[in-house]
Amino acid sequence: MLERNRILVIGAGGQLGRELCRTLAAVFGEDAVVASDIREEVRTHFSYCHFEPLNIFAPDRMDRIIQGHNITQIYHLAAILSADGEVDPHATWQVNLDGLLLVLETARRMKIEKLFWPSSIAVFGGNTEKKGTRQHTVIQPNTVYGIAKSAGELWCRYYHKKYGLDVRSLRYPGLIGHRSLPGGGTTDYAVDIFHHAVQGRPYTCYLERDMRLPMMYMPDAVKAALDLMREPEEKIKVRTGYNIQGMSFTPLEVYESILRFYPKFKVRFRPDFRQKIAENWPRKVDDSLARNDWGWNPKYDLDFMTEDILNHLEKGPLSKIII
Ligand code: NAD
Repeated sequence: MLERNRILVIGAGGQLGRELCRTLAAVFGEDAVVASDIREEVRTHFSYCHFEPLNIFAPDRMDRIIQGHNITQIYHLAAILSADGEVDPHATWQVNLDGLLLVLETARRMKIEKLFWPSSIAVFGGNTEKKGTRQHTVIQPNTVYGIAKSAGELWCRYYHKKYGLDVRSLRYPGLIGHRSLPGGGTTDYAVDIFHHAVQGRPYTCYLERDMRLPMMYMPDAVKAALDLMREPEEKIKVRTGYNIQGMSFTPLEVYESILRFYPKFKVRFRPDFRQKIAENWPRKVDDSLARNDWGWNPKYDLDFMTEDILNHLEKGPLSKIII
């Protein structure tokens, strides 16, 4: 049954947004979804729903889109990711934190019913426990991306407390999808490696072979956002960002999982600056609050995900799915 929600997705042209919009359209109806992005050229991915070019730093235009489409919910995904974020820390802060503040303020003014904004495991830092990282623990991020996410979480909680804005957030681990190439994060290897395997090209991994990190397959990441957004307001007890765990694996383990299907595939390991970023992140997070408060329950493990990604990639050449 279609619901009355009308949903604006900001930064929809990225890895998460492309898959999220498809699911939102399936659940709420194609007419209910308005994809938007600063990059006009990603419009071609949204022929099934509405598309509006939008830079978050144009709040007047954001107001017009919200009014024009009678928007009731926003998913704000626009960001510069962790590895790219280190190139120009001030620009990253501007997009990731100042951009969030503009969206929060717009949502408050325009009386948006619900706002989703993803946080990240990058809020944790070198002093945080690495195994079973708790919801409430030491938050001392090492990257500007992580600093902006941790400050952003506090701003979300502030807007909820002060203005009653129903803003909800998840601390995503590394996200792995097959519909697009990733956008400059520290866990991108876990997407790139599959594309290389299918194309018959060797892969050079920029993390150490035993660098275990929490990861999540995109269908689970999308499901988590929708499950969280569906819950009645009173069930949402954490107004910073919920820890959620999908699977945890090392580059060697994902390589071994791919070898089951591509036994001749070759990977070598040449760690770069991203290894240092990864070392400060958890190996596995404790997501018991998400499980208890709103029933979080992921579906995919490493081998199930590997098979699914390879199946999809074998059906369509990379050049056709990426802009
Ligand atoms: P992505 O880089 O693939 O996509 C981000 C999108 O935002 C791009 O399409 C970009 O064009 C758009 N954008 C950038 N600046 C903009 C602006 N000023 N106005 C409008 N749009 C703008 O990122 P993603 O992987 O899809 O991540 C989406 C969200 O999820 C981000 O908030 C990210 O921090 C969070 N997250 C991602 C991961 C991951 O592994 N990908 C992990 C944890 C959290």
